[in-house]
Amino acid sequence: MPAKILDGAKIANDIRAEVAAEVRTLAAARVRPGLAVVLVGHNPASEIYVRGKVKASHEVGLFSEQHTPSETATTDDILSLIEDLNRRDEIDGILVQLPLPSQVDSKRVLMAVDPAKDVDGFHPINVGLLSTQRPGLVPCTPAGVMEILKRSDISIAGKDAVVVGRSDIVGKPAAMLLLNANATVTVCHSKTRDLPGVCRRADILIAALGRAGMITGDFVKPGATVIDVGMNKVTDPAVFQRLFGGLLYKNAKREEIFRAKGSTLVGDVHPEVAEVAGALTPVPGGVGPLTIAMLMYNTVKAATMRRGSRVPEPSRS
Ligand code: NAP
Repeated sequence: MPAKILDGAKIANDIRAEVAAEVRTLAAARVRPGLAVVLVGHNPASEIYVRGKVKASHEVGLFSEQHTPSETATTDDILSLIEDLNRRDEIDGILVQLPLPSQVDSKRVLMAVDPAKDVDGFHPINVGLLSTQRPGLVPCTPAGVMEILKRSDISIAGKDAVVVGRSDIVGKPAAMLLLNANATVTVCHSKTRDLPGVCRRADILIAALGRAGMITGDFVKPGATVIDVGMNKVTDPAVFQRLFGGLLYKNAKREEIFRAKGSTLVGDVHPEVAEVAGALTPVPGGVGPLTIAMLMYNTVKAATMRRGSRVPEPSRS
């Protein structure tokens, strides 16, 4: 039986509606959570992401502002902007869009963000809070992965979870969240031996490696839940053919768009996995929409925590 497709776009919309309701509640207490987005220089992909974040902020009723230092900005320029945002009380969340131009020391910049306003959850203080299971700000993409699992009624406790990828942004925090939810977790990377064999042990497989369609059917235990975090732009017709060639009858629309636009967005999971997995997130429309929804959630959470109270977790329970 083909895998159940987990609708990330719908889950993201639900979370955004919940955040909007929370924003209305805070408005009654004269609090309007504020998000500052810092976009340095001109990176077309970053500009698209930032536009999406600012638009989503407006839709849920947050105050938001954008700062766009020039491509030639120095580390000190960005640090002084961050200091200013740290000081301003109406700013609850600070998001520095990565990558920064090469002359800017990204680590110093991320370390300078007040951990209470670190809506990306990248600051070591928030990493430590997550690993010790204390309230803090959790990176948006892995937090979104957990929301997909919880809201799709996929049980985690006691399950074997395998995370492919160990980045600070996705793989490591995803592994920590799954561990905190009582899964037995294995983290894989480029030096892992017998990757397909390790992945085949997974009840829950998280693919976050940035390799188009590398996770094929033989990596997947029949019936497993597969969460595809990958976002890879494919422009090569040969790669398109490798991924979708055997399944073109199911991907006619994608082929039409590929022919028209010359590119398509694919995950790290090969489309054939839909014939093996029990449940699967699509790309696009899976994890991607959750990242922005969880940024909105984190901004409200930061606003509430900074004022000394807690917000409930976004998941039903
Ligand atoms: P990253 O920093 O490049 O990390 C990739 C990880 O995958 C590394 O740990 C690397 O291992 C591992 N890896 C690479 N090739 C491998 C292979 N052949 N076998 C086993 N492991 C391998 O990437 P990232 O930032 O975590 O992002 C991962 C993917 O998620 C990308 O496609 C990215 O675009 C996507 N993403 C999506 C969202 C979203 O909103 N949906 C958000 C963030 C990222 P080593 O550590 O050994 O090098």
